[in-house]
Amino acid sequence: MSDSDSDRTDRLNGNGRFPPWIRKRLPSAELMEPVRLTLKELKLATVCQSAQCPNIGECFCRGTATFMILGDVCTRSCRFCAVKKGAPAALQEDEPFRVAEAVRRMGLKHVVVTSVTRDDLPDGGAGQFRRTIEALRKVGGVIVEVLTPDFGGNRANILTVALAKPDVFNHNIETVRRLYGQVRPEADYERSLGVIALVKREVPDVKTKSGLMLGLGETREETISALEDLRRAGCDIVTLGQYLRPSAAHAPIARFLLPEEFDELGAEARRLGFSAAASGPFVRSSYHAEHVFQEAGS
Ligand code: SF4
Repeated sequence: MSDSDSDRTDRLNGNGRFPPWIRKRLPSAELMEPVRLTLKELKLATVCQSAQCPNIGECFCRGTATFMILGDVCTRSCRFCAVKKGAPAALQEDEPFRVAEAVRRMGLKHVVVTSVTRDDLPDGGAGQFRRTIEALRKVGGVIVEVLTPDFGGNRANILTVALAKPDVFNHNIETVRRLYGQVRPEADYERSLGVIALVKREVPDVKTKSGLMLGLGETREETISALEDLRRAGCDIVTLGQYLRPSAAHAPIARFLLPEEFDELGAEARRLGFSAAASGPFVRSSYHAEHVFQEAGS
């Protein structure tokens, strides 16, 4: 980054305003309505809504969404995440079928299913992931991507999901090793890498994917080191996006990366051997997931 770029970002961060490349127009509510209606009718949660994703207008207008199973209350307190925390409700046995019905109605060909973390359940919710994958397989012709919690590193629970054979198994490491204590106090960097490594070792034909939010205070060297760790763990696909603070109670934004920095990091990821890398200010794990999957050589 040049000095002038550095001055520019520092100035932008100093006055608390979003830089011009972090602005998105919300499309008309009318265009988002069909997806909203389907979700409401089927009583389904999405991470798009729960995590206040900045891409919600674009994705809902494209007729897509990322389903969030196991309820909408998380048992962990990550400092970057807007999803509600607290005591979750009981599991809903028909949830997998409602997800499959939504996919049918929306005509999705690539579906991403994620969840809150459920440390309260003996299997961490792995069984519900498996049942959801099975229900989606019955829809037919659908690429299934899961974005899972770490299941506390429990081998059996991780493999319950992986052996159900989703096309893509994603587990985000979210940030660099040094920032785990500040940003993901109940998670563990090595444990998250271990999830990816276990899936790749035991079910090698499932594509592995992970991602990081940038701008939390990490250095470029730390980001590269995390990418190298992911490659060593057998991660095939990576996503890199700008962290945006959901509220004043969440971890502050340390810096807005410039779009060209994202481009450079994406190129570096490909050089390190990732078969696909999506990198940009608005990139999220599930953003244009179908294109990223195609890039990875499905
Ligand atoms: S990027 Fe993913 S989480 Fe965000 S709105 Fe789109 S589908 Fe939902």
